[in-house]
Amino acid sequence: MATFHIWTLGCQMNQADSLKLAAGLERLGYRPTESDDAADLVVINTCSVRQHAEDRAYSRLGVLRKRRAEGGGPRVAVMGCMVGPKTDELRRRFPFVDAWARPQQFDPIMELAVEARDVSQGELGALAGDGMRRTYGLPSGPTAFVPVIHGCDKFCTYCIVPLRRGREQSRPVADVLDEVRFLADHGVREVTLLGQTVEAYGQDLDEDADLATLFEGIERVDSIVRTRFLTSYPKDMTDRIIDAVADLPKVCEHFNIPVQSGSNAMLERMRRGYTVEEFEERVARIRSRMPDAVLATDVIVGCPGESDEEFAHTVELLRRVRFNVIHAAAYSPRPGTYAARKLADDVPREVKKARLRVIESLHAASAATHNDRMLGRTVEVLAEREEAGRTTGRTRGGQLVHFNGVKQVGRLVDVVIDQATPWSLQGRLAGEIALAAI
Ligand code: SF4
Repeated sequence: MATFHIWTLGCQMNQADSLKLAAGLERLGYRPTESDDAADLVVINTCSVRQHAEDRAYSRLGVLRKRRAEGGGPRVAVMGCMVGPKTDELRRRFPFVDAWARPQQFDPIMELAVEARDVSQGELGALAGDGMRRTYGLPSGPTAFVPVIHGCDKFCTYCIVPLRRGREQSRPVADVLDEVRFLADHGVREVTLLGQTVEAYGQDLDEDADLATLFEGIERVDSIVRTRFLTSYPKDMTDRIIDAVADLPKVCEHFNIPVQSGSNAMLERMRRGYTVEEFEERVARIRSRMPDAVLATDVIVGCPGESDEEFAHTVELLRRVRFNVIHAAAYSPRPGTYAARKLADDVPREVKKARLRVIESLHAASAATHNDRMLGRTVEVLAEREEAGRTTGRTRGGQLVHFNGVKQVGRLVDVVIDQATPWSLQGRLAGEIALAAI
């Protein structure tokens, strides 16, 4: 039987694409392998958001080139954000690659898979094209990602995503709910709705729908117990969406809402489309409806022209807002973006590193406080996986919890938290205390 291995870099959107491709390949009679050594077809699902991710793909391609040069070696396909306008250059550099596929455009890989297995054109017609697009990835546990809007129209000056993933394109409501029901029928209890700017969902559709419409639909899918969503964009986050998160029991009060900078001048150069004041107004609205909402954010340090004073404004903003989680990255120019073409990368590397350290220490402090507050509390955890008698899951706010217990995967359980570190919580099933007390 023919085999495949998909190596996925980057965001949850790529993970969801890989699952979908895997489902298509399995329908063609392929079987997945744990590593690429034993696979007949190797797919690298690439990410362009940072240079580091591209370098990892190049290095893996280098290894595969060697195997091919030595004779044999698998068929190789490259998909995702590195494929696009620059593919000609990549083709010259890696001529041994058999197929190139842009994000969500699986057909070249399906065609390669068919050719390698020598199946009929009739089978291909049924599986590739529209058939492929209707294929949902089979879940591998009780949680699953569901992309609901592809692409991004925002064109922040530093970001490669709109150039590689194209304009915003929402899936019809019925299509998304169909997939959620399919996942629920296959054991999924929690879905995370994905989009680069997930609250933009529906703006491009003919039907009158927004993210809250999806939340409402999912409330009616019985075995789904939790709905999450990411990534948020402040300008698209309407009161209706915030109210839906507050009012609908299954939707977790957990926001991933990148601020990127605390300086209005910097936000303007990034073309983020909002001011610090507008951002804080959205946060205030969230907290007025959900005082315990968990807020995570992203910050980029060292963008072109970022002065000490502008960076200080970012630090002040982070202190004021008291995010629970802060993801920080140092700016690196992405070829093709406005910033790479027009703005000088003028913040020295050492300064970027020092700023990164400041933000990381703010993050460590807030994550520790956030987790310490859980000590002694009983929290609701969705058990996601079990290993050696220990089960791991997450709270509604996304905190990782390890607890003693077996055969809980897929269940919502109450866990008493005994220990906390900045990265995770440890606890025991609340039921066990009750038993112990009898
Ligand atoms: S909102 Fe800005 S940073 Fe986010 S994906 Fe779109 S262009 Fe990139």
